[in-house]
Amino acid sequence: MSVLIKNGRIITAADDYTADIFITGETIAAIGRNLSVSAEQVIDAKGLLVMPGGVDPHVHLDMPFMGTFSSDTHETGTRAALFGGTTTVIDFVLQKQGHSLHEALTEWNKRARGTAVGDYSFHMAVTDYNENTKQEIREMIEQEGITSFKTFMAYKGALMIDDRQMTALMQEVKKQGGLVTVHATNGDMIDYLVAKHKSEGKLAPLYHYLSQPEVTEAEASARFTDIANYTGCPGYIVHLTCEGALNAVRNATRRNQKVFVETCIQYLLLDASLYEKDFEGAKWVMSPPLREPKDQATLWAGINQGLVQVVATDHCPFKWEQKLMGRNDFSKIPNGHPAIEHRMELLFSEGVNKGKISLNKYVEVACTNPARIFGMFPRKGTIAVGSDADIILINPQEKHTLSVSSHHMNVDYSAYEGKELTGKVKTVLLRGKIAIDRNTCQVAKGYGQFIKRNKIVQTG
Ligand SMILES: [Zn+2]
Repeated sequence: MSVLIKNGRIITAADDYTADIFITGETIAAIGRNLSVSAEQVIDAKGLLVMPGGVDPHVHLDMPFMGTFSSDTHETGTRAALFGGTTTVIDFVLQKQGHSLHEALTEWNKRARGTAVGDYSFHMAVTDYNENTKQEIREMIEQEGITSFKTFMAYKGALMIDDRQMTALMQEVKKQGGLVTVHATNGDMIDYLVAKHKSEGKLAPLYHYLSQPEVTEAEASARFTDIANYTGCPGYIVHLTCEGALNAVRNATRRNQKVFVETCIQYLLLDASLYEKDFEGAKWVMSPPLREPKDQATLWAGINQGLVQVVATDHCPFKWEQKLMGRNDFSKIPNGHPAIEHRMELLFSEGVNKGKISLNKYVEVACTNPARIFGMFPRKGTIAVGSDADIILINPQEKHTLSVSSHHMNVDYSAYEGKELTGKVKTVLLRGKIAIDRNTCQVAKGYGQFIKRNKIVQTG
């Protein structure tokens, strides 16, 4: 199988030029002007932007949480991702406290293998660090190609590890060549505020927001950064939302420390005023919550300053019926919102087309950096000879409207209903196959492959 993409304007994190791309099998064989090759399929990309497939390193598919499961499976979630131009996702395996990492991995493999449509990898969430787990860290990295370990500084009794475990885990992960990622919020402060609001009869979604003030995130981000500095372990803060937390990272740069920072598309575009819509605010109940306009300004600036390297989604959809579990108690609303399909087009429309970030920066934060930081580069995240032919074609002028009536995620509302965007993903190739074209998916369930990742090199 061979494909020739002609006359496209190719954008990578570093380059911007017009050329043809010749693909044989699953990878890019040649890039050049007016390539004289014969291909079985020819795509004319004149007038379109040709970019690497998106890499979303933060999604939760078919995940058990708060007594239910997130509503996108590995099939529906990765297919929706492809429609929006994301060709690779990294999902989270959650260790159960009292059980092993391997047991959790077996469970997730059962759900994902043979069902994913797009490519995927796993982070391993360590929720119970002990002598047995310590042995497994090396096995995850060396045998399974799972090189990043997620930790929670909140959700005590379910997912949280304490600072003692965090320190020990970081020492081991550093030794084995991995990376520790963190949900950095102060769980004890939040638990106190949740209980306080409930005891006062304050039960609406607004109180989810008011139970997680900025300080809970700023404090934990600083503490995580300090432990990472002490242990020398590469650290990555997931879904960072606010000025106080980013300033903690900024402070760390003053002692020459590097901590990777991810934000998510919703924190750049939506704000906490949505929680004032009575129970409808449940659609945006997620942790950390949406913040204030000043925090959006901080995050956009952070991207351009290079302090924020990645824009992900934390895609964790729940149907309305599931959200209703918290009808009378905000603390029972399953946390998360659907976004896996829209990240690339939202960031393009609101970031590139509105002049907030450059085209190169767009590719950098949505494709290249996530691949590089998590050990998939240059196989994923760029357009280069030898890389996987994961390529998207965007019409930068085409207007369209986001809606539950047209999205492909398995959820019965849109967090962005009626939002008009400029710039549409037209064609998507995944490992050399045309996966999306003319608004249809042309690859089947099971086409998605598990991507084993390399050890972490702390650059980028
Ligand atoms: Zn998450």
